[in-house]
Amino acid sequence: MSSDGLNFLVVDDDELLRLTTKNILRSLAYTNSISEATNGAQALEILRQSSGAQAIDIVFCDLNMPEMDGMEFIRHLGESRAEVSLIIVSSHDDTLISAVRKMAAAYNVRLLGAAQKPVSRKNLESFISEHKPANAAANPRKAAGPKGTAPSFALEEILQGVAEKQFEPFYQPKVNFKTGLICGAEALARWIHTQHGVIAPYAFIEALEKSGNIDGLTFIMLEKAAAACRLLHDKGHLISVSVNLSLNSLTDPLLAEKITQVVRKAGIDPKYIILEVTESSTMTAVAASLENLARLRMHGFGLSIDDYGTGSSNIQQMTRVAFSELKIDQSFVKNCTGNKELCIVVKSSIEMAHKLKISCIAEGVETRHDWNTLREMGCDTAQGYFIARPMNLASFMDFCSEYSSEKVLTA
Ligand code: C2E
Ligand code: CA
Ligand code: CA
Repeated sequence: MSSDGLNFLVVDDDELLRLTTKNILRSLAYTNSISEATNGAQALEILRQSSGAQAIDIVFCDLNMPEMDGMEFIRHLGESRAEVSLIIVSSHDDTLISAVRKMAAAYNVRLLGAAQKPVSRKNLESFISEHKPANAAANPRKAAGPKGTAPSFALEEILQGVAEKQFEPFYQPKVNFKTGLICGAEALARWIHTQHGVIAPYAFIEALEKSGNIDGLTFIMLEKAAAACRLLHDKGHLISVSVNLSLNSLTDPLLAEKITQVVRKAGIDPKYIILEVTESSTMTAVAASLENLARLRMHGFGLSIDDYGTGSSNIQQMTRVAFSELKIDQSFVKNCTGNKELCIVVKSSIEMAHKLKISCIAEGVETRHDWNTLREMGCDTAQGYFIARPMNLASFMDFCSEYSSEKVLTA
């Protein structure tokens, strides 16, 4: 793999450990700059001074350091809104690491992974592969490069793309743990850019949401996903399709009716469409949102609580709205096998879903291990790279035709 031009900063008071990390990075062919710091204060100074092509992309951070420890460093990182990703490397046990994980999330720090020392080459590689260039608009230096760095887009350009319907759903299969069969797919937005090719959601969703323009995209996705669902049914694949619904959209009192119309027009019974909503404590216009959700449910749509467990979800909302599915966030699912903390969260989420008589889906199932763990815990549905990555409609149709449950059921 090529280096992708990433710049690193390794923060650790132990010289030997800094050296080890550097060596692993070099062995992974990351040939760009690797800076070093022995504590948080020094690291912040380096971050402040690095800019342009030298700007740091990924910081490796120890927790226990003199002067400024890792926790304080993470707080400053969050407050400074620095556009960097973080990897925690620490000699502490999983319990502390997972507490810091939550803390980093609360400070809006992008955490790629956390591991106990000594960190392995394989671990580092998989953490780094999670790195996505920051909010594109805030990071214009990451212009479209030949090595796969993401281009950034002005809101006008994104809106132009929406007006021209340049967005396509990519489909990621959902598989039933018991039968091993495909039961649905999540439609994930991709911008098929005339110059830059396929662009992932982090480059446009936030900009559309913040500027109050997400509805245009939502309806393109819904229309295309419903048409795809029709096509799948016609080919004999009687599965459901999930579409992501932004909370902001729920404030429109006519939303439920508009959605119902689009789906019916495509010749699809709403029971085959699942709307995934991420709950938020900052939910505005609660009454209108609840009205929309209730009406959607009444029309037969499935409603899924997306990203469950990330802190923005909360139980009260769930009992107020008739959700039909709980989707455990991938941050709890990935590598849950053997991690006591993650297993507790996952297991209690499954139990709660079942007590509420709704189905439970795990996203981010990447390995056979995690598949087995979740199946044993009684989770209903799996979604993740272990089964397949999101793909365009033509590939997904082929996937459905060629799929055999043996792929996942044979141990
Ligand atoms: P999400 O709804 O949580 O979607 C799951 C994300 O996890 C997808 O990223 C998917 O590609 C990725 N994923 C699936 N399985 C695995 C796995 O095994 N391992 C790992 N590491 N990742 C996995 P994607 O497609 O980049 O979408 C990112 C987010 O963008 C979505 O997160 C969703 O919040 C948002 N999004 C995507 N399409 C739409 C849309 O049409 N409307 C709205 N409002 N948001 C959308
Ligand atoms: Ca989703
Ligand atoms: Ca998620």
